[in-house]
Amino acid sequence: MSLLNLLPHRLSQRLTALYFTVASFSLQRRQQSVQTTAMASMTVKKIPALKDNFMYLVVCNATRRAAVVDPVEPDRVLEVVKEEGVQLNQVLTTHHHWDHAGGNEALYQRFRENADWGELRVYGGDDARIDRLTNRVKQDDTFEIGQLRVRCLSTPCHTTSHICYYVESDQDRAVFTGDTLFLAGCGRFFEGTPQQMHDALIGQLSSLPDDTHVYCGHEYALQNLRFCHMVEPSNEDTRALLERTQAADLEGRRALVPSTIGQEKRINVFMRVREPTVQAFVGKSNSLDTMQALRAAKDKF
Ligand SMILES: [Zn+2]
Repeated sequence: MSLLNLLPHRLSQRLTALYFTVASFSLQRRQQSVQTTAMASMTVKKIPALKDNFMYLVVCNATRRAAVVDPVEPDRVLEVVKEEGVQLNQVLTTHHHWDHAGGNEALYQRFRENADWGELRVYGGDDARIDRLTNRVKQDDTFEIGQLRVRCLSTPCHTTSHICYYVESDQDRAVFTGDTLFLAGCGRFFEGTPQQMHDALIGQLSSLPDDTHVYCGHEYALQNLRFCHMVEPSNEDTRALLERTQAADLEGRRALVPSTIGQEKRINVFMRVREPTVQAFVGKSNSLDTMQALRAAKDKF
């Protein structure tokens, strides 16, 4: 017998009503928290997942074809796909960690149960730790989401098979950076070297156009900006963004993503390891040693 049955009828009714109010409120909050970037040729839906992860639905406006980046909560993704009326057939996996690739198997099963949805293609670096991979990709591999062009950037370091996805049309540019580049930060060097993160951030991501939208795997803006501000207290761009971030609740902080490559080059100390101010903070004279020392400092921050 449930607890509700033991309570006086009116009280149990009130509790039930309260329960439904709370339940629908939390559902509403979840739905509100999907944030949209509407570009001319591409729409990106940012869907918060777990504690501080982001999943992204990437839609080609012309064809309504869509891909999803790191669908760790596949049923939530499918709700958004249904609301938007788009055709999802591609998964872009940034890396094997559970909070990114952990939904691949369940999403694959949903497609098996619904044969009319067509086939699901799952892209990712060549790694047995990623479930249900159908398309193993490497540096400079290309494919399409409808009419949008995707180029794969191999960025090993956080994990050995980490991939960033650069998506572009003639008008619009976006990069999905997983746990390699965060707003004002970068991922931990779990399976790689400072040289590899240097190659990823300075060699590859810094050379994308400045107006490229940056969609990262986690919401870490506040902590990252505090660190950047400590390293470069006289950087006015960092100070201004930190002030905005401190004033915002979690939903407001989420609104800071996407960043842009141009903004990251102005504020993100891991993208600024060639700057004398950043090198001076760690007492190093070249960008590679600075990358290593900065990451060590951030790990203890
Ligand atoms: Zn990770």
